[in-house]
Amino acid sequence: MASHSGTHPLPSYLDPNHLGPWGVYLQQVDRVTPYLGSLARWVETLKRPKRALIVDVPIELDNGTIAHFEGYRVQHNTSRGPGKGGVRFHQDVTLSEVMALSAWMSIKNAAVNVPYGGAKGGIRVDPKTLSKGELERLTRRYTSEIGIIIGPSKDIPAPDVNTNGQIMAWMMDTYSMNVGSTATGVVTGKPVDLGGSLGRVEATGRGVFTVGVEAARLTGMPIEGARVAVQGFGNVGGTAGKLFADAGAKVVAVQDHTGSIQNDKGMDVTALLAHVQKTGGVGGFAGAEPMANDAFWGVACDILIPAALEGQITEHNAGKIQAKMVIEGANGPTTPEADDILHDKGVLVVPDVIANAGGVTVSYFEWVQDFSSFFWTEEEINARLVRIMKEAFAGVWHVAQDNKVSLRTATFIVACKRILHAREMRGLYP
Ligand code: GLU
Repeated sequence: MASHSGTHPLPSYLDPNHLGPWGVYLQQVDRVTPYLGSLARWVETLKRPKRALIVDVPIELDNGTIAHFEGYRVQHNTSRGPGKGGVRFHQDVTLSEVMALSAWMSIKNAAVNVPYGGAKGGIRVDPKTLSKGELERLTRRYTSEIGIIIGPSKDIPAPDVNTNGQIMAWMMDTYSMNVGSTATGVVTGKPVDLGGSLGRVEATGRGVFTVGVEAARLTGMPIEGARVAVQGFGNVGGTAGKLFADAGAKVVAVQDHTGSIQNDKGMDVTALLAHVQKTGGVGGFAGAEPMANDAFWGVACDILIPAALEGQITEHNAGKIQAKMVIEGANGPTTPEADDILHDKGVLVVPDVIANAGGVTVSYFEWVQDFSSFFWTEEEINARLVRIMKEAFAGVWHVAQDNKVSLRTATFIVACKRILHAREMRGLYP
């Protein structure tokens, strides 16, 4: 079922006509290199992953056949601390994608100054085709295979697209069984009863909202009455949409894999979240009108939040975007060509590597709580999260103003300098 036969299309990282996510990341690093001063000597460090592991993940399906899936764990950089980043289960996962996602974690973790490097993992699988038992066997075998490079002080996975607290519980259990003691700190995003943190599920969306409000304040846009469009209404987009609506904004358009919907007066987001919970997507929601998927990008709005997958805003649709501000909840949703188009149109892009850093920030809190076996209240967590996000965003904003560069380049400047300074101080081994 998941075999890689000769008929399979060439993965994008091998296709010379397609930049692919890793190619996009490399372009982003090239854009920032002129701003790195003497640290540019070390920039090659950022242009290759430290370590990449490809694993075969065989499982017995419920019908008795054996299926093989390809899994990955990439540690892009560990100069500032252990690897850290999510695990994605998706039918389109490739090594190039996981490499790029791991690199964006290095940048993100340095941008908000949490003491981690960057890592990411994934399995090329459509988890919707698996039973719960098959999903558990897949997760456990994958965890065992990458067990040689992960660990609470080595590399700490977390949820990403199509993974959740249950999958983190199985990962934590498998790793713990293999090492012979319960190691809660090996993954974050666990259920609260297993050493998880309060506020972790909502943290990414809360961070998106926090930087969105800051960006709106600095550009003089009132949140009250602001028109918001959201792509992807899962953990990130759903939470961000709810927080914006609670703050008086109007969610006027939403798109996900089940369709696109609009309501000019603003949707009842609580009802929409209940609909998504029940049906698995936004399609068919009674409180909005269906709209063509293509039309979503041109919808009249002030704030656009891509919160699904990478490569969504491209040179083909960036010109249509009417929003004044794009806040990237997803990782890598905007291509460099689209970045330039949006910049020329005067659209402010708050990049993924700062906008969606709330998730890993509360993952850091979870890891600290696990190590100290002392747990914080939700108020403490949210207050610390908001403080870190605001401070990091303010720093990046100033660097952007001082250097007259985009917020993406500014965030890369801040982050790359931190990483490469650590690299320089540590020096080369041997
Ligand atoms: N997968 C999330 C991200 O892309 C969270 C990673 C983490 O908490 O380690 O930032």
